[in-house]
Amino acid sequence: MANELYHFVGGKKVKGKSGRFGDVYNPTTGELASRAPFATADEVREVIANSAAAFPDWAATSPLARARVMFKFKELCEAHADELARLISNEHGKVLSDAKGSLQRGLEVVEFACGIPHLLKGEYSEGVSRGIDLYSMRQPLGVVAGITPFNFPAMVPMWMFAVGIACGNTFVLKPSEKDPSCPLRLAELMLEAGAPPGVLNCVIGDKVAVDTILTDPNVKAVSFVGSTPIAQYVYTTAAQHGKRVQAMGGAKNHMIVMPDADLDQATDALIGAAYGSAGERCMAVSVAVPVGQKTADALIERLVPRVRALKVGPSTAPDSEMGPLVTKEHLAKVKGYVDHGVKEGAKLVVDGRDLKLQGYENGYFMGGCLFDNVKDGMKIYEEEIFGPVLSTVRAETFEEAIRLPSDHAFGNGVAIFTRDGDAARDFASRVQVGMVGVNVPIPVPLAFHTFGGWKGSAFGDTNQHGPEGVRFYTKIKTVTSRWPTGIRAGADFNIPTMR
Ligand code: NAD
Repeated sequence: MANELYHFVGGKKVKGKSGRFGDVYNPTTGELASRAPFATADEVREVIANSAAAFPDWAATSPLARARVMFKFKELCEAHADELARLISNEHGKVLSDAKGSLQRGLEVVEFACGIPHLLKGEYSEGVSRGIDLYSMRQPLGVVAGITPFNFPAMVPMWMFAVGIACGNTFVLKPSEKDPSCPLRLAELMLEAGAPPGVLNCVIGDKVAVDTILTDPNVKAVSFVGSTPIAQYVYTTAAQHGKRVQAMGGAKNHMIVMPDADLDQATDALIGAAYGSAGERCMAVSVAVPVGQKTADALIERLVPRVRALKVGPSTAPDSEMGPLVTKEHLAKVKGYVDHGVKEGAKLVVDGRDLKLQGYENGYFMGGCLFDNVKDGMKIYEEEIFGPVLSTVRAETFEEAIRLPSDHAFGNGVAIFTRDGDAARDFASRVQVGMVGVNVPIPVPLAFHTFGGWKGSAFGDTNQHGPEGVRFYTKIKTVTSRWPTGIRAGADFNIPTMR
């Protein structure tokens, strides 16, 4: 009998009442692991009301006291790192070392949030006129919500709730229903760290839960990360309901390999960035763009044996480099893209579709796939595959290599491998993509900078975490104040001008 999961509301585990469930599988074995309750609209409204009730006291808690909760939360997550990584690996399928790495990247945002007393310091101008001072302050919004994808069940929620809560908001987290156990555990750890009940609530659900969050007037801001069609839907719906919204979508990240690049370094980078986490990363490199036929031939020659030698195995086995995909449906979808690529005329130089793992025949495994001679306009080039499939598009010139990612509908990340500083600088300046790596394949910015793509990869004006995150989760107030009050200037019928 599969374990029944719960919602985490007001500091307690709450049983779902809807009678609707989503099945959560262990992708390594294909076994049903647990059943996730799908909340009704009424249940979600109750969760939001609980967060609203917790808001005034949390907003009045000093930033220093809020920072101390974040420090404690970080310590607890580190003490429970093995347990949290195992929860991620067992439901998502990424290997344990990668799960731990993603936890670490999430905790870096918590570390950033520990600096909240400093980050919330306003600005002050003394004596803008005689006896008049002008100052600004950043105040929390109220209840804010985060809707997150399956591929980073710890890191992406932490991008959002660490900053949102440190700013003094209370937070409703709606994680992916495919791997909800780690986010539920994070909500428990926040309580243990000293966040009062209701400061971080976690509700499990599907579209019903999302739509309630997007339309409930108590929710003041929505942060979303997921696929582009849903990001677009979340952006327009939440904005129509008067909410602040940031919505990150899908990606197709290119890695340009210039003729002067260190090809061994570029090959290592491509192998890790394309096949790590089975390609289920929004910053995965899914398109290699060697410049010149000689570079392309040499790169393919190096890549082929490496892709064939990838160690695909159970997510919790210490020597696995790549685990299974998240669900049976997703595996079928990724294999369908590979079939389509072959039909479209791309050359499949490594075919991992038929990989079977002895002892894990029901797991959602496939081997790495490598395409050569992919052309823009092909479906496997235009769409996000989100699996261990690398497409090679041969570019004739540097200009073509800049044009490809710049013209693509997505614009999350891009990288260039070269020894030529001039080319790298020119590329970084002109390419129409939000995050650029120079000899760095996955340029995920650190927590004190900010994360976000361009074009179809992000909707809204502000990025995740860093100073932009603080701006997203606060509203600014400016106060113009006269002390002493005894100065009389008489009634003035004109717009005030400072003297
Ligand atoms: P998804 O869009 O299917 O789901 C994301 C969230 O939206 C989940 O919480 C889900 O329950 C909810 N949702 C799904 N369908 C919905 C609907 N019809 N109406 C309302 N809500 C709905 O994404 P996913 O498959 O969980 O995650 C993978 C995607 O996320 C990829 O496209 C990946 O590129 C993207 N991603 C982007 C970033 C980024 O920062 N740009 C980071 C991580 C993942």
